[in-house]
Amino acid sequence: MRHKIDMHTHLLPEKLPDFAKKFGYGDFIHLEHHRHGFASMMKGGVFFREIARNCWDPEIRIAEYMHYHTPVQVVCTVPVMFSYWAKAADCLELSMFLNDHLAGVVEDYPEHYLALGTLPMQDTDLAIKELERLKTLGFPGIQIGSNVNQLNLSEAQFFPIFEACERLDMAVLVHPWEMMGEADMKKYWLPWLVGMPAETSRAVCSLIFGGVMERLPKLRFCFAHAGGSFIPTIGRVQHGFDCRPDLVAIDNAVPPRDYLGRFWVDSATHDPQLLRYILDVIGDEKVCLGTDYPFPLGDLEIGRFMEQMGLPAETLERIFYKNTLKWLHG
Ligand SMILES: [Zn+2]
Repeated sequence: MRHKIDMHTHLLPEKLPDFAKKFGYGDFIHLEHHRHGFASMMKGGVFFREIARNCWDPEIRIAEYMHYHTPVQVVCTVPVMFSYWAKAADCLELSMFLNDHLAGVVEDYPEHYLALGTLPMQDTDLAIKELERLKTLGFPGIQIGSNVNQLNLSEAQFFPIFEACERLDMAVLVHPWEMMGEADMKKYWLPWLVGMPAETSRAVCSLIFGGVMERLPKLRFCFAHAGGSFIPTIGRVQHGFDCRPDLVAIDNAVPPRDYLGRFWVDSATHDPQLLRYILDVIGDEKVCLGTDYPFPLGDLEIGRFMEQMGLPAETLERIFYKNTLKWLHG
């Protein structure tokens, strides 16, 4: 398999300015390079996560990907960098810094990298302004969180941003972050294992029931982690729509099942059986190789499990690069 594109990977700059000091408040992330090849991500003064060189070094990443015959990575920031809680102007400055860094990596290694930008989603006008700048920089799309300060993506304030994405032909990756219930389930990594799949379903349901997908049929959404719990629970979601339309069908009369096959998801399931089910439900033109590299919950063999599933060569080709190109470029 010669052509593979991994459309869900995260990349940070090696050095981050001390935004908390600069702005005078807030738990902005900074990096402490405490030993060779490793850095601590600090959130405020608190240790958040240790990252290794492959989180910031484009060349090491290219070498690691070569083991898996994957020459191209789609990079975006780490969701903890979204900072939607910050003052909008400060979040814009942070977003521009991250986006300029990503643009630089793409410029330095055009055969190996594509990038998705980040936006100050808490401010509609500033988000659109940065989106327009990203378009001029050649970004094919953006990555956004599954909620914005716990507001669902169906809220009216976000619609003009999505409208601008459709107008500018920018693809949208929705990534779970600021997981619901996080404070109540800190033990056992539950925000990641339980919260993230629920968050992603929350985003899909909000965009369907809020009529965003219906009103913007050309907007190309992709949902991380194979759409979280949305596809596995579509029977329940559809039944809820049927039995309580007074609660569910209030803003959009189109049944949720009708949207299966209209949006993309990545392949990060860690489960061939689930992947087969998803291919059955949404078709093999809407699943993209996406791994969440370089983090431990990612598919760090870059889709190797799918090569061992006995899928038709045509399906593998679609998953490994054709579907991602369609998602990114239409
Ligand atoms: Zn991710």
